[in-house]
Amino acid sequence: MTQSKIHRSEDRAVVVLSNRLPFAIKRGPQGLEKQVSPGGLVSALEPVLRKRGGTWIGWPGISLKTGETLNGRDLPYSIQPVAVSEEELEHYYHGFSNRTLWPLLHSFSQNTQFAPEDFKAYEQVNRRFGETAAKLAGSDDMIWIHDYHLMLAPSTLRARRPKATIAFFLHTPFPSYDIFRLLPWDQELLQGLLDCDLIGFHIESYVHNFLDCVERRLGAHVDRQRRLVHYGDRTIRVDAFPIGIDFALYEQAATLKPLVVKAVDSPQEPSSEQMILGVDRLDYTKGIPERIRAFEHFLEHYPEQREKVTLLQVAVPSRSEVSEYQELKREIDALVGQVNGRFATASWSPIRYLYGSFEREELAALYREAQVALVTPLRDGMNLVAKEFVACQVEDPGVLILSRMAGAADTMHEALLVNPYNLEETAAAIHRALSMEENERGSRMAALRSRERRNNVERWVRRFLEASAIPASAPEVPSHHEFQTWLGPFLHQHRLALFVDYDGTLTPLCEHPAKATLSEDMRLTLRNCAARPDTDITVISGRALNDVQEMVGLSEITYSGNHGLEINGAHIPHFQHEDLDHYSSRTVELAKSLHEIIQGGAWLEEKAYTLTLHVRAMPQAEQESLLTRAREIIHDAGFQARDAHCALEARPPIGWDKGRAVLHILRTHYGPSWSEHVRVIYLGDDQTDEDAFRFLAGLAMTFRVGPANTLTAASRRLPNVSAVEALLNWIASRPEAECL
Ligand code: UDP
Repeated sequence: MTQSKIHRSEDRAVVVLSNRLPFAIKRGPQGLEKQVSPGGLVSALEPVLRKRGGTWIGWPGISLKTGETLNGRDLPYSIQPVAVSEEELEHYYHGFSNRTLWPLLHSFSQNTQFAPEDFKAYEQVNRRFGETAAKLAGSDDMIWIHDYHLMLAPSTLRARRPKATIAFFLHTPFPSYDIFRLLPWDQELLQGLLDCDLIGFHIESYVHNFLDCVERRLGAHVDRQRRLVHYGDRTIRVDAFPIGIDFALYEQAATLKPLVVKAVDSPQEPSSEQMILGVDRLDYTKGIPERIRAFEHFLEHYPEQREKVTLLQVAVPSRSEVSEYQELKREIDALVGQVNGRFATASWSPIRYLYGSFEREELAALYREAQVALVTPLRDGMNLVAKEFVACQVEDPGVLILSRMAGAADTMHEALLVNPYNLEETAAAIHRALSMEENERGSRMAALRSRERRNNVERWVRRFLEASAIPASAPEVPSHHEFQTWLGPFLHQHRLALFVDYDGTLTPLCEHPAKATLSEDMRLTLRNCAARPDTDITVISGRALNDVQEMVGLSEITYSGNHGLEINGAHIPHFQHEDLDHYSSRTVELAKSLHEIIQGGAWLEEKAYTLTLHVRAMPQAEQESLLTRAREIIHDAGFQARDAHCALEARPPIGWDKGRAVLHILRTHYGPSWSEHVRVIYLGDDQTDEDAFRFLAGLAMTFRVGPANTLTAASRRLPNVSAVEALLNWIASRPEAECL
């Protein structure tokens, strides 16, 4: 990276969006009081905001009453609360965030609930976050969105601030394609994330999972080597940024003289028992029941260890209003009772179970005293407890037993790695850890410590901000090799029926349709495709038939005008939809009514059977009111109104569109069993082409050209007209089908 890029990243103010503000708000006698949240993320990001300035946008944790404001005068950066109503909280937070996304992202599909009303509230609250950020962010700011609560906020932001630098970091795992696609709104969330410039995950495998999803569900063009996603006319960087902790802070806390940990220290003399420590939020992803069973297995199979070791399990209350979490608590209570009942003696209980939370200093003392940390989540984005334990091993080095399913296992190789579902393996690891010689413990711990010291949270922030400062690359035209990979096997030894839209696909969009002439290069490329004995081309347009014929000017291809209502081709009889005559006089009447409201740069294109109201040349602020009135007039005349690029189409209410026109051409030209003889490719750039994409889903390869600001039914996207030309060139030069 060049110096100037680094310089830019250090200069920019940061706007942070996270579900919560960096402190909890309480209503006290003096009004609203802030209590700084002690989390690692807050302590890492706060100094960045303090140094560069910026804003932290988040939900304050309580509903603010009218007139109540948060006092942020003591802070060198701004805070901006986002209001979330009680009802929204139920659906957006408890519902979609915690009952849908949390289990799904952790691959707990059996715990995942899908409720449309939850998604609706999630969209609504995300829009509010996005709008708040769009209002507050300066043009050069870096907008950094955190975590799964806000996966749609980038879309609102991108729509309001097309040039902003938007980055996102996911603090949970990202599951495999097979899991993520269970979500009924998977495309919406993927699309939301792709409105960012940079997307960060903890580890490589989450990056790969995400890339698989955007490739397979959105048809994005993925460059795995360079970690880039080309999507429409944008390029998005995706990478792994494993988060670290504030190592020095934990190390220092552990070095302080021993603390009395109230809930833990017993009044008797310190015992000679070895301590195994588990510290988790009480969450089903953390594998607490499995851990207790593994410990039971250990006591059963290594009886000589009984009375010599205790498992101290700290379970921090979490989402305790949710029934699943209450059920989990009951299960753990019962399991602890069962194991203690089975093995306890008069002077020894195998498990000490603490349901509550500790301050950092107390935790550091526990980490330091433990001989073994048993960190065995069933799935975890990273797991900070493993890292904090390591930082606190300042004296006699302990042993970390770590689940392979935690993101932390990707880098913490020197831990004893286990499968938390494998009770035997975990029990054996406990035994090995307790009997490990000092030399081995010391070597493993030293390596773990030096890595965590180096890769601390400050470095994580720095790496992420540097990556966000790399300028976005220009859209890339796919290579011949890529077209071959996408289309070669599909076309193999088949005839090709190629359908291409005109405006925005074969030519860039212009402010007036008359100016959108076909380039000579594109005409030559089309002619080369049409000259092949195994390829038939139809240009399918919203323009009038004679207009599109003139614009392209090639006699060897088929044309379809007025969105498929008229067809004229070398291989099929001239077609005009039978109901059109009935509508031609009504189209003239409608045109008259529309002319009456047209003003300031708008104009009407009259195409005999359809009309297009063009508003591109109007001031943007006036467009919407004209379009709204025009829509009403079109509906009153009994026509269909369809939105297009800076335009509104009026079409007769005939059940006919580009999709049906394609079917008509295929059946007329190749017969009813056309799909056995011919492969279909369709290229188009706007909403009217979506009719064809939907119709052809599963039957053809379809490409949506241009910006990716809406979802598409097409199988893939192409950035621009140059990419269309490259695809047509590949079609023209591909090996000829031999069987024809
Ligand atoms: N923690 C705490 N008090 C406790 C127990 C845990 O402050 O009594 C903190 C712990 O220090 C760690 C965090 O909670 O920073 C847990 O992070 P982790 O990544 O392990 O799991 P998460 O809860 O984020 O899923």
